[in-house]
Amino acid sequence: MSWTLVIWSMLASACLTFALIHLLVWLRDRSSLTSLYFALMCVGTAFLALCEVLMMQSRTPQEFARVVRWLHVPLLLILAALVGFVYVYLQSRRLWLAWTVVGLRALSLMLNFLAGDNISFLAVQELRQVEFLGDKVSVGRGAPNPWMAIGQLSVWLCVAFIVDAAHGAWRRGERGKALGVGLASAFFLGASALQALLIVWGGVAIPSTNSVFCLGIIAVMAYASSRHVLDVRQLAAQLSESEQRMMLAAGAARLGTWSRDLVRGDVWASTQWRELFGFTSTEPVTLDRLVQKVHPDDRQRVQQALGAPRPPRRVYTMEFRIVLPDGSVRWIATQGQADFDARGRPLRMRGASMDCTERRKNEEETRLLRQEIAHVGRISVVGQLAAALAHEINQPLGAILRNAEAATLFLRREKPDLAEIGAILEDIRKDDQRAGAVIDRMRSLLRRQTVEMRPMAVAELFADIGTLLRPEAEARHVKLDIALCQDLPQVAGDRVHLQQVLLNLVANAMDAIDEAAAPSRSVVVSARREGPRAVEIAVSDSGAGIPPARACHLFEPFYTTKAKGMGMGLAISRTIVEAHGGTLRAENAESGGARFLFTVPAA
Ligand code: ADP
Repeated sequence: MSWTLVIWSMLASACLTFALIHLLVWLRDRSSLTSLYFALMCVGTAFLALCEVLMMQSRTPQEFARVVRWLHVPLLLILAALVGFVYVYLQSRRLWLAWTVVGLRALSLMLNFLAGDNISFLAVQELRQVEFLGDKVSVGRGAPNPWMAIGQLSVWLCVAFIVDAAHGAWRRGERGKALGVGLASAFFLGASALQALLIVWGGVAIPSTNSVFCLGIIAVMAYASSRHVLDVRQLAAQLSESEQRMMLAAGAARLGTWSRDLVRGDVWASTQWRELFGFTSTEPVTLDRLVQKVHPDDRQRVQQALGAPRPPRRVYTMEFRIVLPDGSVRWIATQGQADFDARGRPLRMRGASMDCTERRKNEEETRLLRQEIAHVGRISVVGQLAAALAHEINQPLGAILRNAEAATLFLRREKPDLAEIGAILEDIRKDDQRAGAVIDRMRSLLRRQTVEMRPMAVAELFADIGTLLRPEAEARHVKLDIALCQDLPQVAGDRVHLQQVLLNLVANAMDAIDEAAAPSRSVVVSARREGPRAVEIAVSDSGAGIPPARACHLFEPFYTTKAKGMGMGLAISRTIVEAHGGTLRAENAESGGARFLFTVPAA
């Protein structure tokens, strides 16, 4: 029995078995390139082993030379597969070097078929029989082919490529990989190249055992792959652990999780999610069924968001209502994330949903409360202005009475002067309109109303507060200077609420002037453009300004320094301004006195 034949056949069949297993792995997961390279390496080694057996059993130099020529085909396959494996497994960055190695080897294969008997020998001159593992095997001798240098260069460059990749892996802290695959395969490859040199150039009479060296490399790779399996098992355990933790956290936070395969249309939902949306544990979840449960007013929005996500938007957050089987409404807050393939086609959406009914209820209550407080605040400001406003209304009423009396007298004349009576009636109409305007503005301030955002001119706003505040200012001998606002964009806001802010600020300004007992008594209301998207409105006074101790408390609710103050004016004003998306701040003007400034977004 020939031992070489037995050992080399076993080696070849082991390699083919390995190749088959890893090819199947690659076919199932095309992204696992290491499996593909490993399989190719095994196939190459099996053929190499076959060639080596044929070489050992050659009977003539020509036969030997022909087999050596074909041996270089599996050698190219092995080298290319090894380069590919190392490139992916050790994450080398030197793609150019990888291609150089493969390119040189391909060149040497071409020369192998063109120059001399093969790339190793120009001509195989004789065969010698040597003892090997108890057998007599053939070993060729002849003139070395100088082109063999190219083949050798490719091998030694491959060794350099592997050492470099191993060095990179070592520096990244992947020492096991660097030593295992990197250095071990560089060692076996180097040994095989040395053996070729000794046989061809050194004339050493031993048979070529390249396939054994390759088997060494395959063993190292197989060990690395089995470690990979071990890692996968550990990862699976970690994954299950983290899933448990996530389920626990989701349960505690009452989060329902879901995912939807956008290619196949399948939906998966956790038990918590099913409970949240009123699905039984066996009821199939589909987008249509889900949309059926959504409140009719929110359906379109939900359908749009969940229907077909479009890149680059990945994250979707949304709040909507669902109607439960008993007719009650539940608010759901949901956040979803979409995955797309390289071409931007949606693949999957996954996310979490939770019941936010309680928060929504609280928000609504807070909103109503805020409106209530603002309303009370308005009543209080109008209350402050009431005396002056009553006077403002009394004046036209008195004038109307006097004009009506005069008109009656004119009518009693024999020949009433109709032109005079017409002028009197016109005066009456104007006075009536004046009184009516004041009453209208007071009424709109006192009426309870919801926030109504709409575009308006700043001049319109200023005209309203001019009507309401002038009588009070005159009564208190304060010069109220309301700037003309031309060239300003329209602002977006609720007219009554913005009036309330201005009334508060001007009323405070007049109080500050009284408090300071300053000789100059003036309040200036002005507006200017603040950046491209807002208007800034300022109320400046000639009072004593804001002392540092007061500054940090100004906007606190119930903070007041006045005997009859409520301390709510500035707090309410700030809430209103912020609800409009603006800011309200106070500062001391350089010319003395305080200045309150707030911004309103442009319409
Ligand atoms: P109230 O007017 O009822 O006191 P506010 O919230 O409107 O409540 O004002 C809070 C406090 O801020 C006032 O009591 C006053 O001390 C201070 N303040 C408001 N406006 C001015 C101003 N123009 N100059 C100086 N201090 C002011």
